[in-house]
Amino acid sequence: MSILVVGSVALDTVETPFARVEEILGGAASYFTTAASLYNQVNLVAIVGSDFPREHLDFWRRCPVKLEGLQIKEGRTFRWAARYHMDMNTRDTLDTQLGVYEGFHPIIPEEYRSSKLLFLANIQPELQMEVLEQVHDVRLSVLDTMELWIMTARPQLTEVIKRVDVLLMSEEEVRQYTNRVSVASGVRQLLDMGLQYVVVKQGSYGALLFGADGTYFSAPTYPLEEVIDPTGAGDAFAGGFLGYLSIVEPGPDDYYSVKEIKRAVVHGNIVGSFVCEDYSIGRLRTLTMDDIAKRYRSLFECSHFDPDWRSWR
Ligand code: AMP
Repeated sequence: MSILVVGSVALDTVETPFARVEEILGGAASYFTTAASLYNQVNLVAIVGSDFPREHLDFWRRCPVKLEGLQIKEGRTFRWAARYHMDMNTRDTLDTQLGVYEGFHPIIPEEYRSSKLLFLANIQPELQMEVLEQVHDVRLSVLDTMELWIMTARPQLTEVIKRVDVLLMSEEEVRQYTNRVSVASGVRQLLDMGLQYVVVKQGSYGALLFGADGTYFSAPTYPLEEVIDPTGAGDAFAGGFLGYLSIVEPGPDDYYSVKEIKRAVVHGNIVGSFVCEDYSIGRLRTLTMDDIAKRYRSLFECSHFDPDWRSWR
């Protein structure tokens, strides 16, 4: 079952308190595509400029990634620069250059249109809406966004939220969008917009899953001893989440059970944790399903506790 993604493909410059790397492969769709292609075929829709290094395309061609929807246009590739704070959970954006994304309109190739799983990665909400208008056979749609669009394109973002099944937001974004201090109360407001699930990303602290059916699940994160670069962890989370769902059978009503959604959140956390171990998609290049399975097992061990207890007094 193939997965359709639209989002940014970029050249990033990243500064951490320990190092600086320039013009490395970045972009929300790049992280998602590479992560999800560990599980299944990914159909990528994005745009790059004529300066985009061909080696990245060659790498994706060797994965199960379809590039027919990747437009290559004369001009500059999207560029983004950021500096991380000491905690590596927070960062400042230093520069954003849209380049060929200015004037971009996603075109979904005919062969992508039967994709059952859709990820609307971080990009202008109007473009995310253009994608929704072109696909009619999607079983589960997942949306990601960022502070920039909450602040500058709120009405358009609201329209997109009303049309998707699952929303991924960081804790801070939930507060910004809903204007509520309590995350649980903010999530209630979001679920009332018609979403099936909201996943609240908590950086190095894991993720929370809230369902319209009352589901609440707190997924732990893997305790990494060294974080090299957390850029793209959220997009890789989405890659693990939808990647996992692409390899399991939904129920007869075409819905995924809550059990599978919870497993998908754990896969998301795991793939997101691996991304932080290197710059760009470096760690994803060598990642195997065995590595994921090992970390899945160890997350189970560290978060499972005995439900039976009783006082000895
Ligand atoms: P994450 O760390 O998951 O939030 O994703 C970071 C990625 O998002 C970087 O690789 C950036 O290239 C990309 N990005 C940053 N700003 C934007 C933007 N305004 N639109 C689309 N993608 C962006």
